[in-house]
Amino acid sequence: MKKILVLGGGGFIGGHLAKKLKTEGNFVRVVDIKKHEHFFEDDFCDEFLLYDLRDPLNVKSVMRLETFNDGISVSPFSYHKQPFSNEIPFDEVYQLAADMGGAGYIFTGENDANVMHNSATINLNVVHYASEYNVKKVFYSSSACMYPEHNQLDPNNPNCEESSAYPANPDSEYGWEKLFSERLYLAFNRNYNLDIRIGRFHNIFGPQGTWYGGKEKAPAAMCRKVAETPDGGEIEVWGDGQQTRSFLYIDECLEAIDRLMKSDFVEPVNIGSEEMVTINELSQMAIDISGKNITIKNIGGEEFKEKYGFKCPVGVRGRNSDNNLYFEKIGWKVNQPLYDGVGKTYLWINKLVNN
Ligand code: NAD
Repeated sequence: MKKILVLGGGGFIGGHLAKKLKTEGNFVRVVDIKKHEHFFEDDFCDEFLLYDLRDPLNVKSVMRLETFNDGISVSPFSYHKQPFSNEIPFDEVYQLAADMGGAGYIFTGENDANVMHNSATINLNVVHYASEYNVKKVFYSSSACMYPEHNQLDPNNPNCEESSAYPANPDSEYGWEKLFSERLYLAFNRNYNLDIRIGRFHNIFGPQGTWYGGKEKAPAAMCRKVAETPDGGEIEVWGDGQQTRSFLYIDECLEAIDRLMKSDFVEPVNIGSEEMVTINELSQMAIDISGKNITIKNIGGEEFKEKYGFKCPVGVRGRNSDNNLYFEKIGWKVNQPLYDGVGKTYLWINKLVNN
């Protein structure tokens, strides 16, 4: 049984990850600033701690397991503290906590200061205490948003090879923070021998993720819009709909993380799908799955600005995962068709919308 800490486990990927790790028989502590909206605590972790990871004292407290009589203490802030016989390091820490969201959160510019400050502060705290308390291995969740904008202008031919990261030019402050934090973890690896793995996620999606409220990503947003729209209606898709992306279903993301953690590869590597589609094609998938007759209305430019009061936030023109390095180093490829994942996600969101 491994002792595992999942930071940001109250969120989408972290929640699924914690659940999988617990199901596999590990002891799993989850820390998040909010509770998980869709999982009961007992179902996805052994211990849930509601703490703000921007506070270094909180990070310091949660980063060690205190044990007595060979058991694991319930809370690092417990008032019933025993004279603990032992403090043991975690075998694995997964750092998924971040101030993030979809295009409507990341690309409007409104949240830039918070996104950079909150996520960088969390990572500065985590890497410091993980190193100080001899955590055996740390996974850091980076993002495809760190790739340079100039390599993603052609929607049919974007370049997201790991080696294309520099000279750096991400199109959002979210991407710049990810790049900074990648380098932070790499520096701790070089200078303090902190064993790290870094995955650059490309649009992970699936059930039990954010699906409304402005922080949802494209697949959830499209599924929600279709679920809310009656037969014969119309859904709005931001931009001309010709911007391209790839999307990876959550189960495959977890498998890719697991295999990366078991490998000895410490450099950043893409975790994504290579099945690239336009945003209109993604929307059409959700429509086809619903069985409804719905048309797509693309909205951008002045019309969008007049309606919403800000510039249409669409991000780069093209983005696709390049999985050659992952395959070369880890020897595995994702293979689930996008349609299947959208189907499962639509069923889940449709139930929430219509019940
Ligand atoms: P999410 O928003 O569902 O999860 C992030 C979690 O971090 C949330 O539960 C949030 O409450 C928590 N958090 C934020 N600030 C915190 C704080 N100060 N203290 C404690 N917890 C805090 O997002 P997700 O989709 O599960 O993403 C997980 C990680 O993967 C993030 O680092 C994200 O940047 C990265 N990522 C995700 C995707 C994707 O497509 N979902 C793509 C690229 C990168």
